[in-house]
Amino acid sequence: MYRQAVQPTRISPVTLSKLAKLGIHHRTDLLLHLPLRYEDETHLAPIATVQPGMNVQVQGVIAHREVVFRPRRTLVCRLQDGGGELYLRFLNFYPSQQKQLAEGRQIRAVGEVRMGYYGLEMVHPKCRAVDDDTPLRQSLTPVYPTTAGLSQAVLRKLIANALDTLPLDDTLPDALLRRMKLAAFADSVRLLHNPPPDISVASLEQRSHAAWRRIKFDELLAQQLSMRVHHRERSKRTAPKLAPQHRLTAQLMKDLPFALTNAQQKVYAEISRDLAQPHPMQRLLLGDVGSGKTVVAALAALQAIESGYQAALMAPTEILAEQHFLKLRDWFAPLGIAPVWLSGSLKKKEKQAAAERIASGETLLAIGTHALFQEQVSFHRLGLAIVDEQHKFGVQQRLALRNKGKSSQSVRGEPVEPQLPQDDALRQAQGERPINVHEPHQLMMSATPIPRTLAMSYYADLDVSVIDELPPGRTPVVTKLVSDTRRDEVFARVRTSCLEGRQAYWVCPLIDESEALQLQTVLETFQLLTQTFPELRIGLVHGKLDNAEKARVMAAFKAGELQLLVATTVIEVGVDVPNASLMVIDHAERMGLAQLHQLRGRVGRGAVQSLCILLYQQPLSELARARLKVVFESNDGFAIAQQDMRLRGPGELLGARQSGVAMLRFADISADEDLLNQARQAVDDLLRDFPEAARGHLQRWMANRHDYLHA
Ligand code: ADP
Ligand code: MG
Repeated sequence: MYRQAVQPTRISPVTLSKLAKLGIHHRTDLLLHLPLRYEDETHLAPIATVQPGMNVQVQGVIAHREVVFRPRRTLVCRLQDGGGELYLRFLNFYPSQQKQLAEGRQIRAVGEVRMGYYGLEMVHPKCRAVDDDTPLRQSLTPVYPTTAGLSQAVLRKLIANALDTLPLDDTLPDALLRRMKLAAFADSVRLLHNPPPDISVASLEQRSHAAWRRIKFDELLAQQLSMRVHHRERSKRTAPKLAPQHRLTAQLMKDLPFALTNAQQKVYAEISRDLAQPHPMQRLLLGDVGSGKTVVAALAALQAIESGYQAALMAPTEILAEQHFLKLRDWFAPLGIAPVWLSGSLKKKEKQAAAERIASGETLLAIGTHALFQEQVSFHRLGLAIVDEQHKFGVQQRLALRNKGKSSQSVRGEPVEPQLPQDDALRQAQGERPINVHEPHQLMMSATPIPRTLAMSYYADLDVSVIDELPPGRTPVVTKLVSDTRRDEVFARVRTSCLEGRQAYWVCPLIDESEALQLQTVLETFQLLTQTFPELRIGLVHGKLDNAEKARVMAAFKAGELQLLVATTVIEVGVDVPNASLMVIDHAERMGLAQLHQLRGRVGRGAVQSLCILLYQQPLSELARARLKVVFESNDGFAIAQQDMRLRGPGELLGARQSGVAMLRFADISADEDLLNQARQAVDDLLRDFPEAARGHLQRWMANRHDYLHA
């Protein structure tokens, strides 16, 4: 057996939840949690030989220790090894650390050397007290990707234990490994977790070492296998043929006040072609914020409707869903189509009435939040389900949606836990036929601007369309980084802008730990801004507001009755108010890159020059500084996504709300094309001659990712 759950009796629930954040759900996932880099603690560098920029381990005696208070409270220790001396500096330190670094103590310090105020120094080195005969490490020390609150030491222990106790059997047949000149799996993972001291560190860092090649091959192979399996499986499923009639769609295009961009036409053509097939479309439409995805969705919906089927559009927030409802209601009114609105905030009676109209088939288009796909709502003939900002939805919600269109016998038969994709393929290989039911086509939309290749490999069973151009007439948003100490200037800016007839957003900081605190912050900010700008009409939206109130405020802002909108990140997705041209993001250092870009996308939607002010508070962490720099320098969502991936790895890129890790963590499709080709070659052989090996391989690599593959 390749998989075993992470042993909950021995690992605390807190640690388990941290591990889950890293995509580690099973003990075997620990094996594949590979180091980002290594620290060399296998030998000591004489201090006299070290130079700025070097990452080294030094050993010496603390000759002097003091806490200085200017410019900031700092612990400074002078370390001497006989040949030279070096300063160790700690900006934040615990009493225990201070005690450890007592004068006269012998210390080993690992870190990067730089030239400081006093001379050579290490800032926040990793230190431990040692004796003359404390042995050096025998292998390079792995540094793992981790998350706040999970230490390297804990990760290392868990991983070492997994390496010692789990079977590391090869999933692939010997013949294949020989033919492809690949290293054994067991040797490869062992080496990557504990590289011997004499290894070429460059070959590890560049991931060109044979061990890395094996891991990357395995990963690409798993990806190819799962794509193949899904493709087969999808072509066995059936969906209504929604051939284009060019009636309603043509009418809408004629009525629109703008012409579709080339990119919009291209993606609509791709969608239109898929909808006409008797197999379910599962297509992801990617387009940067403001690229105009809504109208594409509207056209797709019309194509379903003109073929006699229903369409549904689901959005993750009430605000966004309502905005879609209003827009599509206007667009579709001349076509004689009145969408029905369904959200959790409706009264029970209204909900029932809406559900009845959906069930009877009287309603051709339903728009709403995830309430659309709850138990009570059943569609008469759902042909197309559209999910906007799909990365904001959980896997379960997306599954619920897909199941809506199926006939009742299949809904009953649907496993609560989706089956592993490979099981389907194997069942088919054994001659069993899947249940034959219609299911709706699915169009998922996201502004998470991920590179296309990444998207394709991440969502293995999705086809991907990309809108890669913005509608004409947009003026790029100017972004400014402003320190919190200059808040007054920002106030002045907001005032002028609003008094000149434009509108502004003030986005309050994200407070992860506590919703109550977040609410308090937004209320306080609202109060402060109301006092600061008695002459402005100011609105407030946040997640705790009841829905009618939220809708009222948004409508007032949209209509221009409110000049300034104080909001939490509920406005992050989708909100479209072209007259808003100033966005202030408070505590921008707390937000992720994708989020900052999405928020900024709320402005720059009209012809006037828009400004986005990123207010930040010192001190900035290294990561926060890097993030702000990226948003400051680029307006291009795809470029930002690429940087984001570099900064945090692809796993988190697709939204914190999705647990799990991107399918390609190790291989790089552009750099590892040769491996990808090898993997492609291997897939057919494997599926034909070694189905058991294929199953084992998928299980090792994908078991906790099958949700994505299905959703
Ligand atoms: P997003 O891709 O972020 O969902 P929207 O669909 O909300 O973008 O579109 C952003 C704005 O651009 C909307 O006001 C929309 O009406 C407008 N728009 C969409 N397509 C075009 C186009 N081809 N030409 C001009 N404006 C367009
Ligand atoms: Mg949108």
